[in-house]
Amino acid sequence: MQQSGGIMKIMKFGGTSVGKPERMHQVSQLITADDESKIVVLSALSGTTNNLVEISNTMATGNKSEAKQLIEKLENHYKDFIKQLLKTDVCLDAAAKVLNEHFEFLYIILRISFSESLNKDILAQGELLSTKLFSIYLTENKIDHALLPALEFMTIDGYDEPQIGAIKVKLAQLLKQNSDKKIFITQGYICRNAKGEVDNLKRGGSDYSASLIAAAINASVCEIWTDIDGMHNNDPRIVNKTFAIEQLSFEEAAELAYFGAKILHPASIWPAQYYNVPVKLLNTMEPSAKGTLIAEKAGSVGVKAVAAKDGITAIRVKSSRMLLAYGFLRKVFEVFEKYRTSIDMITTSEVAVSVTIDNDVNLPDIIKELEPFGTVEIDTNHTIVSIVGNEIAETKDVMKKLFDAIEPIPVRMVSYGGSKHNVSLLIDRSYKDQTLQLLNTGLFGL
Ligand code: ASP
Ligand code: MG
Repeated sequence: MQQSGGIMKIMKFGGTSVGKPERMHQVSQLITADDESKIVVLSALSGTTNNLVEISNTMATGNKSEAKQLIEKLENHYKDFIKQLLKTDVCLDAAAKVLNEHFEFLYIILRISFSESLNKDILAQGELLSTKLFSIYLTENKIDHALLPALEFMTIDGYDEPQIGAIKVKLAQLLKQNSDKKIFITQGYICRNAKGEVDNLKRGGSDYSASLIAAAINASVCEIWTDIDGMHNNDPRIVNKTFAIEQLSFEEAAELAYFGAKILHPASIWPAQYYNVPVKLLNTMEPSAKGTLIAEKAGSVGVKAVAAKDGITAIRVKSSRMLLAYGFLRKVFEVFEKYRTSIDMITTSEVAVSVTIDNDVNLPDIIKELEPFGTVEIDTNHTIVSIVGNEIAETKDVMKKLFDAIEPIPVRMVSYGGSKHNVSLLIDRSYKDQTLQLLNTGLFGL
């Protein structure tokens, strides 16, 4: 691990933080609030990536007229957007040119035959548009800055893994070429793959871009600006009383992000952790709120938060004959490996093993290959509820409080001891809301 304390900071703004002209105005104020050097990472305007996915899917089915309508609709949205964003004719002209360039590109794709690499090109338009329009807005408001094209430094290898070493070198060159600047704007999400094609870091990947950039330049802090005041102790959409957590360790944050806390892309933790860059989750709508600090230290012991992840399938393989035999688990796991399906939870008994997966595209094949090992039972539509906190496995009373709290809930699986920071429960999706509420009362007294 490296020492933190770089001289630049990262500020990443999500889709809702740039989704309206007045929000872009707020972002411009936030990035000029101090005179630290910074790299500002932007998502696409909220809704745009979803629209692009729809356009791409429609093209893939060959329905060109519908795809064309969708493109036109999106183009109109952006035409309105720039009218509200900008005042001067020069800047309006410049923005109209940007729109023309990117929408013309979409209309051209419409005329040629669709492919997977074109799909990635389509998806990249959102971040290209948001950053270019924001840059024009900054220029209009005389805010000195440089635009750094992510496609010139953000790269992934043949396994879709980011190449931190290469990113570091290229980014340093680009920064050096603009050494007179203090504010840099770049795209989240988009990158180039091993073939040199335009690609992306998967949905929600702008957070990942931000933490990779933070790692690459050894930033002083990686600020993730969203529309909520930090990571909450429970799901605020479901539970009525929740609060923002002040501080989390990287481990705790990783467990929470992975097990359902939507605020942060799970992959974005490791670069920050490895290069020891603190991450701050902040609220664009309420910039003075403390937010959540994610750093090496947990801040306090005990339960920090509860998170839930839906769409879970549980698979039980029962075999009185084989389970005791060594090598049985390996054979079971190999099936999942073969179908590139990762396992979230595991529990075993003398005669059975249960695992959960969140991606069941290959489930029929997996079942077929597991059947020779024993009876295979499938439960779909389940939810993993994860209780996360520093050393909770060793904190007296946590387990008792937890199980007292959820007494009326039938629990399908329990995972305890895998890490010191997490206890996970698997329940039927229909019990999710009740479980989260009960845990909020039982563990946080709310
Ligand atoms: N625009 C991309 C998405 O919606 C990436 C991001 O916002 O993080 O998934
Ligand atoms: Mg996001």
